[in-house]
Amino acid sequence: MTKNPTHTRTIGHYINGKHATGINARFGEVYNPATGEITAHLSMASADETRAAIEAAQAAFPAWSATPALKRARIMFKFKALLDEHANDLAKAISLEHGKTISDARGEVTRGIEVVEFACGMPHLLKGDFNEQVGTGIDTYSMRQPLGVVAGITPFNFPIMVPLWMIPMALATGNTFVLKPSEKTPSASLMLADLLAEAGLPTGVFNLVNGDKEAVDVLLSDKRIQAISFVGSTPIAEYIYTTGTKNGKRVQALGGAKNHLVVMPDADVDQVADALIGAGYGSAGERCMAISVAVTVGDVADGLVAKLKEKVKDITIDQGLNEKADMGPLVTPQHFAKVKEYVDLGVTEGAKLAIDGRGYSHAGHEKGFFLAPCLFDHVKPDMRIYKEEIFGPVLAIVRAASFEEALSLINDHEFGNGTAIFTRDGEVAREFTHRVQAGMVGVNVAIPVPIAFHSFGGWKRSLFGDHHIYGTEGLRFYTRLKTTTSRWPSASKAAGAEFVMPTMK
Ligand code: NAD
Repeated sequence: MTKNPTHTRTIGHYINGKHATGINARFGEVYNPATGEITAHLSMASADETRAAIEAAQAAFPAWSATPALKRARIMFKFKALLDEHANDLAKAISLEHGKTISDARGEVTRGIEVVEFACGMPHLLKGDFNEQVGTGIDTYSMRQPLGVVAGITPFNFPIMVPLWMIPMALATGNTFVLKPSEKTPSASLMLADLLAEAGLPTGVFNLVNGDKEAVDVLLSDKRIQAISFVGSTPIAEYIYTTGTKNGKRVQALGGAKNHLVVMPDADVDQVADALIGAGYGSAGERCMAISVAVTVGDVADGLVAKLKEKVKDITIDQGLNEKADMGPLVTPQHFAKVKEYVDLGVTEGAKLAIDGRGYSHAGHEKGFFLAPCLFDHVKPDMRIYKEEIFGPVLAIVRAASFEEALSLINDHEFGNGTAIFTRDGEVAREFTHRVQAGMVGVNVAIPVPIAFHSFGGWKRSLFGDHHIYGTEGLRFYTRLKTTTSRWPSASKAAGAEFVMPTMK
């Protein structure tokens, strides 16, 4: 944390339709992970600045929630067109602060846009239920109404996609929004504010504060915030959920992961190796849906390790803006040190380090936070490198004797975000999908991120709360159900007071 940044640009907030540089004297450092340079200082929002953003959203709510859903959807259509137009700029901004490759960043933007496309159909999605004549002359109808001011708190690894899991759904349903993006990758998220304004979103409907716990704690306690969507690590997700719900808010808090991919003896080893290389090392392993554990069943491990050793040599590691790069650096020096310590720990714990990426130095970018792929074999369930989320390019192989043992490993694990099985046997795949304790399951698909018209979320300590995110789950999260029972009797039909529980006659 720096006090007086002098030599870089300062990133601030977006409150009530205006960019604000920030009044707080605290600043965070934003890096270019490929060069190791500090490229910007981030103004950390004070409690008062956060309250100003909530105030703006609160003031905008009455008019925005009363705006016909069709008009709100038209703004989403324009927003989608602008996102398409600026997709490359957004991807570049992501890559420069996160380190992921530009092609991967473009994929992230596309997956975010898909949620905006879904939200464009909100007038249809908001259609309620109506029953005529539930009693004589009595009709009942149900509708979903927005909550008020809602907040989003997002992680570093998807600065566009994860905010877009929330914003279009919340706005199209009639809520107003305060976003608190990651302090590590703030620039791309901030670009969304201008695109929303250009799309015609009224002032105050969307606000953004950059910062840390000081801002988050205001969002968690301020009575005007009705609901919080959080995506990040499990300890913080649990804190957000317990504090937010204690303060009477609706909370969905998506946490960390340790995703297992089961390799059955009949699976094609080449296909599995390709899947593991992409899902384990893509985005330098900094994905909540990354595969970090391969559970080999029977005797496939030796052949698979040999294939992985061969294929890992073809991975092009470079700064993210190189169109030919497959994998970039880790996000910050602190995260780089943490991941490297986990690799050291695995060696101490007795796992076999079959591929060691620790010595990697990128020519021309020696100060970048590059760690080459690492592969541990013979990992045991009691090791910390198996139990804990590492969030880097570190893949663990656990050898299981049977399908039942592989399934138990997943079901006994603390996390239950995503999982996958590779097999040619439909009966085994069906048994797996039926019994596995995880929110998202892939059959011969290593990263089963649901499409926007389904919903995203894990089980166990990968999600706190009742709702997955986006899709129809997002619609329910951001709205309340209201059911009206009505009749229109003429004065001559007055029946007098009724003292028993009303039943429909
Ligand atoms: P993080 O938990 O450190 O930060 C997430 C957000 O919480 C950020 O906005 C951060 O500023 C804020 N925050 C951090 N510490 C806080 C505190 N003490 N009090 C209040 N707010 C705090 O996560 P990260 O490192 O940015 O992202 C990586 C993590 O996110 C991984 O664990 C990954 O699995 C998880 N993730 C999960 C999903 C999912 O869908 N389940 C998706 C993406 C990332």
